[in-house]
Amino acid sequence: MTMTALQNATTAPRPLQNRVAIVTGSTSGIGLGIAEVLAGQGANIVLNGFGDPNEIEQTRETLASLHGVEVIYSPADLSDPGKIQDMVAFARDVLGPIDILVNNAGIQHVAPVSEFPTAKWDAILAVNLSSAFHAIKASLPEMVERGYGRIINIASAHGLVASPYKSAYVAAKHGVVGLTKTVALEAARTGVTCNAICPGYVWTPLVEKQIADQARAHRMTHEQVITDVLLTAQPNRKFASVEEIGALAAFLCSENGASITGTALSVDGGWTAH
Ligand code: NAD
Repeated sequence: MTMTALQNATTAPRPLQNRVAIVTGSTSGIGLGIAEVLAGQGANIVLNGFGDPNEIEQTRETLASLHGVEVIYSPADLSDPGKIQDMVAFARDVLGPIDILVNNAGIQHVAPVSEFPTAKWDAILAVNLSSAFHAIKASLPEMVERGYGRIINIASAHGLVASPYKSAYVAAKHGVVGLTKTVALEAARTGVTCNAICPGYVWTPLVEKQIADQARAHRMTHEQVITDVLLTAQPNRKFASVEEIGALAAFLCSENGASITGTALSVDGGWTAH
């Protein structure tokens, strides 16, 4: 890290000082980007997700020391409702009541609907949709009791529009947008907001992995999938960055985000403007 980066990390404003944030699926990609921005604004963080234990520990230590916040790690498998309850209880026991919940963990599988493996359908619905329900159910009551809470569900452009070969993902993400609206209405007078962020393509391991599947399904090369399938949908022809998603999440957590609730905010280079 350069001296400038260190100075920025130690002198940046900290509007989320002492807030407690759970970010699911934050060992990689968008979740890690969000965790970094929230930690940079002073929030104590619960990391979650899979990966190499040494790399996760390294990430945890770096985030904590760089930003002077507490960072703990929960290995909870979000396809298991009991493990989600355990993760929320662990966060509360170690860091205190949950202020911010970012439901970000997600998986993908690409295949025509008639060939879509049933086990993949079940797994995608469990991780991409039901986990958000279970985590919200476990943390919303204490947010309401304390009069502040921010729930951010990472949906997708596929929460608003469809693409072929992604039946489970599109169904789950549309479900996330519906869940978001419902929770926002139920919590509207409590100081708790609930919003969905709907990214278009963001360059992360999840996108890298699906290029091979897409190449098979469309009978294309990897390069053709990037230019002719992925970025074709995105009018600005650019991948969004994890930093952009993190900055939007942080704004939603701020006091100025207090009236934004029940929305599905697109970060998709114009994709869903079509
Ligand atoms: P990623 O593969 O880089 O990260 C996914 C994270 O979820 C990882 O930390 C992984 O370990 C975790 N995870 C997966 N299954 C889990 C489980 N059962 N229990 C706990 N953690 C689990 O993916 P990403 O691209 O950063 O995606 C993050 C979210 O953003 C997902 O919900 C995805 O659908 C959404 N999204 C991504 C894009 C994109 O272009 N990358 C676009 C729109 C929406």
